[in-house]
Amino acid sequence: MTLEPHTTFEASGYALSDIQLFQGTSHQQIAALLADCPVIHLQAGQPVQESREKGARLYIVLSGALSLTHMDAHAASGDAAATRILPGECVGELSVLDGEASSDHISTLMDSDLLVIPADTLWKLVDESNGVARNLLRLLSFRIRAANAQLRRRQKVGEFYRQLSMVDGLTGLHNRAWLNDNLPAMVENAHVVNSPLSLIMIDIDHFKQFNDEHGHVSGDHALQVAAKAIRSGLRPTDFAARFGGEELIVILPAANQKSALLVAQRLRDSVRQAAVFSELRKPLPHITASFGVAMLEPGQNAEALISSADAALYRAKEDGRDRVAM
Ligand code: GH3
Ligand code: MG
Ligand code: MG
Repeated sequence: MTLEPHTTFEASGYALSDIQLFQGTSHQQIAALLADCPVIHLQAGQPVQESREKGARLYIVLSGALSLTHMDAHAASGDAAATRILPGECVGELSVLDGEASSDHISTLMDSDLLVIPADTLWKLVDESNGVARNLLRLLSFRIRAANAQLRRRQKVGEFYRQLSMVDGLTGLHNRAWLNDNLPAMVENAHVVNSPLSLIMIDIDHFKQFNDEHGHVSGDHALQVAAKAIRSGLRPTDFAARFGGEELIVILPAANQKSALLVAQRLRDSVRQAAVFSELRKPLPHITASFGVAMLEPGQNAEALISSADAALYRAKEDGRDRVAM
């Protein structure tokens, strides 16, 4: 069917029965109200103008298809896909109902005929037809469900990236950002519930020399091996993070100094026993690490706890490396 660019619904020859909003309603009554509503013909790719002066309007697709894009979707990740509005479906009802301008961009995907219902006409339809009011409610509930689902998807994507940004890319351990985010709260909690908390600062021995002798790639691999040895020597309730460079931190909630020392000794053994291979699978010398243990003191904050473990680590280095100090 070809139409003049503008005609009325009555003259357009389209049937009410094909329109979702009018399913199960008394068509006679509605046809009278819609008789003078314009039907516009738009070519593929044309924007559906929302001219604000004319007030909000509902658009019903009679033929063709529209594409609806949320204006902020370009910035959001993942779900920027446009929604298609197909014949019989409508768009713009929210703007009519709340009188707010829509932030959606609507354009035609192909040559399309649209029935344009001005806000006051839609309100008259609602007043006079229970069927239209009911269909509109159903439509709104679909919209709300869709919006909620999209919100949940975005939250999941956001959470995924947040988690990702807390992981060290080389070792797979928590990173410094994670530590900054979490250690203060753990320290605070330990003070509140009056529970011990211990921290082990770990630094790989003579790692510069290892890099110089075997190359940076083997150095990276050695770091991964050390991280794995440490991670697998811990309980699920303990935490391991890469503090920076070749320095790692282990947090032992509820562990006192004595048990933290035992854990550190065990980790020291694991690291020195772990096999390291070059890129070409050539066995390389084993690495060792030094360990500084500190238990949280009354009134101490996260920073002071780290400093205290760092001071113990310094003593382990001074005493000859490959050892645990407190
Ligand atoms: P010490 O026993 O006193 O700790 O000696 P060290 O050589 O380990 O200490 P130093 O601080 O002089 O050097 C640390 C080295 O760790 C230098 C740096 O290149 C290396 N390093 C730090 N981060 C990485 C990394 O991600 N990959 C590799 N391959 N090397 C790293
Ligand atoms: Mg270091
Ligand atoms: Mg070192």
